[in-house]
Amino acid sequence: GVDETSACGRLTIDLAALVENYRRLSRRAAPTPVAAVVKADAYGLGAAEVVPVLHSAGCRDFFVAHFIEAVRLKPFLPGDARLYVLNGLMPGSEGACADLGAIPVLNSLDQAKAWSALALARGIELEAALQVDTGMARLGLSLPELQALATDPAGLAGIRLTLIMSHLACADQPDHAASPSQLAGMRTASALFPGIPVSFANSGGVFLGPEYRGDLARPGVALYGAAPTVAEENPMHPVVRLDVRVIQTRTVPAGTAVGYGGAYLTPRETRIATLAAGYADGLPRSLSNRGAAWFEGTRLPIIGRISMDSLMVDVTALAEDALAPGTLVEMIGPNQTLEAVAADADTISYEILTRLGQRYHRHYA
Ligand code: PLP
Repeated sequence: GVDETSACGRLTIDLAALVENYRRLSRRAAPTPVAAVVKADAYGLGAAEVVPVLHSAGCRDFFVAHFIEAVRLKPFLPGDARLYVLNGLMPGSEGACADLGAIPVLNSLDQAKAWSALALARGIELEAALQVDTGMARLGLSLPELQALATDPAGLAGIRLTLIMSHLACADQPDHAASPSQLAGMRTASALFPGIPVSFANSGGVFLGPEYRGDLARPGVALYGAAPTVAEENPMHPVVRLDVRVIQTRTVPAGTAVGYGGAYLTPRETRIATLAAGYADGLPRSLSNRGAAWFEGTRLPIIGRISMDSLMVDVTALAEDALAPGTLVEMIGPNQTLEAVAADADTISYEILTRLGQRYHRHYA
């Protein structure tokens, strides 16, 4: 295995904070139960570790995106948990999905037809969720298609619907006009299937208000400590800390070109530390000449372009012997939030989280 010192850094994943976030979301959504979106390997943090911990905290519904994720997660899934596949059924995968006991989210009339045909062919009842597109134009049946399905007695033959769901496009912006419009669509959809539970709210949706709760909330990113909305105060507890190792340091004269393309010229004599993480470790190249690392309260600006496996920071502000090889410096942590890194990289916290690499020593605390 990869031990602490052979890895390029340490990725600390605070499972107690994860549970705390699940509780905060549950209190906020109450009395609606809260599912967990664990697609993309639980947003990069490790679904095999995250799922059992959330299950112990009371979570019983888990959502992945692709069927292959359901296949990989199944061995770690407690027997009483439900596993939904958000992207639904690819033609040809229906039998395997049924064999696995995963619940597909049916996103089109064709998917509904294929699932129904399989249930009838096997002479069994198969569970499914049904997604309606209430305004995101990504996945799901249109309202007219849903209406057609609801009034066609053969449309869902053999299928036991466990959820009617839809996804909010702008829930991270509390005052966005798209959300009430999607809510109206969701109400129309749910009226077509009386008695079937509704799942609507993602992380941002949980904070939009009680009318968005539905019967099963479906947060992802907030569980992992990221801010659910653009509001100033992040109500979640940080889950991720990332520290990367110093490889070596050097002092160069003014006018030295640093890194690929010579994209940074030192304006003065500069002490440089080369850190053991690059874009292959999930630090976006867009942080070149923009982001920073931190060491004991001092900001260390990234200079030059980020390489595949390393990056350079200006450490002139530190004592010359402060950063011995192997020293850990902070990339995400108390001095620099996930959101700050995402903003520096011109992206969103989701993208930073899901790209955290496999070359860190992962420490589950
Ligand atoms: N539901 C669906 C259909 C999604 O695609 C996602 C993720 O994007 C979520 C829920 C969870 O969203 P969030 O991470 O914003 O809470």
